[in-house]
Amino acid sequence: MAEQKGLKNRGYTHADVDERRKAAEQFTGADLESVSKYCFSSEKASKNIENMIGAIQIPLGYAGPIMVKGDNAQGEFLIPLATTEGALVASISRGMSVINDGGGAYATVTKDMMTRAPVFRTKDIKHAKETVQWIMNNTEKIDEAVSSTTSHGKLIEIEPFISGRNLYLRFSFDTGDAMGMNMATIASEAACHVIEENTGAVTVSVSGNMCSDKKPAAINLIRGRGKTVLAEARIPKDVVEKRLHATTASIVDTNYRKNLVGSSLSGTLGANAHAANMVAAFYLATGQDPAQVVGGSMAMTNCEDADGDLYISVRMPAVEVGTVGGGTSLPCQSEALKMIDCLGSGKARKLAELVAVTVLAGELSTLAAQAARQLGRAHKQLGR
Ligand code: NAP
Repeated sequence: MAEQKGLKNRGYTHADVDERRKAAEQFTGADLESVSKYCFSSEKASKNIENMIGAIQIPLGYAGPIMVKGDNAQGEFLIPLATTEGALVASISRGMSVINDGGGAYATVTKDMMTRAPVFRTKDIKHAKETVQWIMNNTEKIDEAVSSTTSHGKLIEIEPFISGRNLYLRFSFDTGDAMGMNMATIASEAACHVIEENTGAVTVSVSGNMCSDKKPAAINLIRGRGKTVLAEARIPKDVVEKRLHATTASIVDTNYRKNLVGSSLSGTLGANAHAANMVAAFYLATGQDPAQVVGGSMAMTNCEDADGDLYISVRMPAVEVGTVGGGTSLPCQSEALKMIDCLGSGKARKLAELVAVTVLAGELSTLAAQAARQLGRAHKQLGR
């Protein structure tokens, strides 16, 4: 059957993919004609997927332009977004246009570290403490092990957590312009070997879930993971009323009762209207790891009355993105990254700031639609 055909997952050819798809068609009875049409090299994609049978296409649009005056992203941008949710791109575009009328958005990256947290089994708490002491006295040995695996990654800190006979070491790395999960995992494994050899602590898993990757986790909300990014804008009172058909007071009130009180009452990690919508569409378009929408979903949205104007900001503690590595080198994703001049080295913080301003625009538009009681109508008109 299909799984036996060309299962090798490195360097398979277009013909291998065709053969495997035909086997899948036979097995499932489904016609995979549309899936067979794609524009990228199967051989290159073999680094991104095993058992490839074709491609799924997602409609790509753009929101914007948006005027950004960030620390790294500066100028006007058309933001590529891939989604199947009608009304989403229109809503984000509306938010961007309103932000432009207020003079644009500011954005900044305040923290930038990718984490991996191995868990070790120790003899007892005392042994766990001795292991931590050895690590603190021998950081150069661990740095050496890390450097043997990567030229761009650098170990920044190791934070220990002990629970019974479990020792968790939360490693934080500077991963340059890569999102950094492969890099951090490979480097952590090398560090684990050195620690095991010298302390007798035994590695149970290179990922002990204190990292924490692709799971909603308070540690990421508080300490950050990947890039912690802030974005803000001020919308003049008359623009709020004319463009959003709402008032500053009604948007501030909606944000308070919905995003702050409602999220708190429901135990949500983060406090936002729909940050995951913008993050998912952005990540799919630009070759990011879509499972890391989990981290991006933990945004906090603030709205205040600033002398009658609307002040709006988002805080995103876990924007896990890169401009090299992962899916960024696939041709469609590369082209999308080029639309915002974010492909390659030196661009990752710029990309993260653009994620945050896109979330800011989406939050503004949706909050205003709810304050003006227009959300259902917009979805009825555009999304059905
Ligand atoms: P990667 O493609 O595995 O590694 C990045 C590569 O780019 C490295 O070889 C690095 O070289 C090189 N590089 C060139 N220029 C760079 C620059 N300016 N900054 C940083 N690196 C540069 O990518 P990754 O970001 O580490 O991992 C992303 C992938 O991991 C995604 O496919 C994601 O889905 C997957 N993932 C893996 C895990 C896991 O546990 N392994 C978990 C979640 C996601 P050097 O190595 O010499 O520095």
